[in-house]
Amino acid sequence: MNKITILLIFALIAHLEVQSQDNLQQDIIKTNQGDLTITFIGHASIMFKFQEMIIYVDPSSSSGSSFENLPKADLILITHNHGDHLDAKTLKLIVNDDTEYISNKTSFGTLAKGKIIANNESITMDGLFIEAVPAYNIKHLRNTGEPYHPKKDGNGYVLTFGDKRIYVAGDTENVPEMANLKNIDIAFLPMNIPYTMTPEMVKDAALLFKPKVIYPYHYRGTDPNLLIELLKDYPEIEVKIRKM
Ligand code: ZN
Ligand code: ZN
Repeated sequence: MNKITILLIFALIAHLEVQSQDNLQQDIIKTNQGDLTITFIGHASIMFKFQEMIIYVDPSSSSGSSFENLPKADLILITHNHGDHLDAKTLKLIVNDDTEYISNKTSFGTLAKGKIIANNESITMDGLFIEAVPAYNIKHLRNTGEPYHPKKDGNGYVLTFGDKRIYVAGDTENVPEMANLKNIDIAFLPMNIPYTMTPEMVKDAALLFKPKVIYPYHYRGTDPNLLIELLKDYPEIEVKIRKM
């Protein structure tokens, strides 16, 4: 191969990488300790990059992403053990020997590694302060009468990046514990039925703790724009729609 051919191949590879990354939307959030990059992978899967750390929440192929071009994880947070949140095949693609995990107790059975945190507990990992918030159903029940997400099982997480606090709610309804949330800059709130919330329930959740920004996520089958309409009288809460 001559030099030009090699250069062309490199250029092609570089171009392909940029293209596949570009298919996922990203937002950059300024914090007092540097930029936080949020990658909207899809459905319940989110990636954060902060100070060279790569953190995933619920990486799963249910997002529609192959994860092949995404970076290896320093830290993975799992909210609960449903396949669209805990996906062993996807985890294999993004871990290395140093990857750390935080999960709820029932996910630990599948992971067999990492740290368990229960509802209302907190932990500091690699300098990041992480709090577990209860995530469960009150109204939406299976035919058996059991909630889709029973109380005391799943976690939502609040991650503190510098002076910004990001809440990823997991699969939950507008539970009363959300009223304890303080100073949330960004909230990822799930909006699909029957598993999580209707848009009206997301509005009620938002009014419990008044996040500055809401990204609706986990909204398959629901038009996320409905939330913009429902919150139009609350200009202090901004709804940002991203492809999830
Ligand atoms: Zn679930
Ligand atoms: Zn789910």
